[in-house]
Amino acid sequence: MTRQCDILIIGAGIVGVCSAWYLTQAGYRPLVIDRGEVAGGSSHANAGLLVPSSWTPMAAGNGIEQLLEKWQDPEASIYLPASGDPHLSDWRRRLRAAAEPIQWLKTTAVLHRLAGRSVELYRELHRELSLQDHFRMDGSLNVFSTQAGFRQGATQALRHRSMGGIAALLDRSGVRHYLPQAADKIVGAVLFPEDGRLSPKAFVQSLAHEAGQHGAEFWSHVTVTGIGGIDDGQITSVTTSTEDIEFDVAVLAAGAWSGALGRDWGLNVPVVPGRGYSYTMARPEGFPDFGVQLIDEGVAVNPMGERLRIAGRVEFTGMDDRVDGMRAAQVARASRDLLGLDPRPEDGQPWMGFRPMTPDGLPIVDWSIKYENLLLACGHNKIGMTLGPATGELVARRITGTPAGPDDAALALNRFA
Ligand SMILES: Cc1cc2nc3c(=O)[nH]c(=O)nc-3n(C[C@H](O)[C@H](O)[C@H](O)COP(=O)(O)OP(=O)(O)OC[C@H]3O[C@@H](n4cnc5c(N)ncnc54)[C@H](O)[C@@H]3O)c2cc1C
Repeated sequence: MTRQCDILIIGAGIVGVCSAWYLTQAGYRPLVIDRGEVAGGSSHANAGLLVPSSWTPMAAGNGIEQLLEKWQDPEASIYLPASGDPHLSDWRRRLRAAAEPIQWLKTTAVLHRLAGRSVELYRELHRELSLQDHFRMDGSLNVFSTQAGFRQGATQALRHRSMGGIAALLDRSGVRHYLPQAADKIVGAVLFPEDGRLSPKAFVQSLAHEAGQHGAEFWSHVTVTGIGGIDDGQITSVTTSTEDIEFDVAVLAAGAWSGALGRDWGLNVPVVPGRGYSYTMARPEGFPDFGVQLIDEGVAVNPMGERLRIAGRVEFTGMDDRVDGMRAAQVARASRDLLGLDPRPEDGQPWMGFRPMTPDGLPIVDWSIKYENLLLACGHNKIGMTLGPATGELVARRITGTPAGPDDAALALNRFA
């Protein structure tokens, strides 16, 4: 059996669903397919913080060699082992190149613009649609337990202000004012009043529902298995676990799976999985109404209505979907030691998700070089929830042929050529 559609979107995470929404607004009726459920991938139980303040990519502007050394320790909040995997070795080489200071500054400016646009779109979506997702723009607090971390936080605050953002430095007593449960070990914090948060699964599922009302169609448990046909430089169809699908245009929004899928199709898409964990617990009485990030420990905390989400760690250990209880417990321990929380997994074990990591920290939103009708929309790293609506808008813009925007070149696939 063969199904036909104008636009096929592969992946129903935040990126696929936001793309579907903005495409329906441009008059298309996209078909979105997913190997699991809508919001079943990394967009399921991530921390859900909307952080236009956190536009710093992993490849730091200086000191990358020290960081790479530090990240070889499995106890570190980012674990990037030296491995024999040629894709990861290549990825690490590109990470070093992306840390070159001028390159890094350009990258941060693009992320800052994209995140800012996304926040505007989030506000617009919540004004126009009735999305039940605990959306709030009530700020976030970046908390530090080391003086070295706090110094870097202060530099980040200055940079944020120089780009027009608002940031306030707090000493320990200032932190206590906002976060009475902060441990004595905490040395200071940066308050970013323009950040926000939501419940990620609720947002993605309710926007998918809205897109469905406007002509998009969603199929769950359908896996793309290969290319069905090619004609004159265009992919005409894909094979799936259920039936072949013919289309005019396809959007690859398969998150961390995009690298492997791209390789199967002869494309070099340097997206590797960065595993992370989360716990969801009842919100303790008195936990404040804003997001908290324990920056030195790499942990994020989001109060979502009556629940509290605690998430963290980035592990470059491949597409292994077994939960490593010992490593996940580090997230719980940091939240206990610094905020007095006691997270326990609700359904027996913590949730685990794969962040789609590019070496330079920027997503890829571009036509594939090899196939003229394949648009890549992947590689959103640690801030895919933050960047989702801006990406969906860009996808619709590229498909409708709207003239190039200022950041199109920075998001192009050929930056990795
Ligand atoms: C622990 C953790 C905490 C995080 N916290 C935050 C945060 O606070 N703020 C923030 O902005 N971001 C956060 N992120 C990052 C964010 O979750 C991701 O960047 C974002 O969800 C990526 O969205 P996506 O749509 O690209 O990928 P996904 O949500 O992973 O969607 C991709 C989809 O593609 C489907 N797929 C894959 N292969 C196929 C195939 N062959 N056929 C059909 N379907 C396929 C998958 O099933 C999946 O549903 C966090 C991530 C983690 C892991």
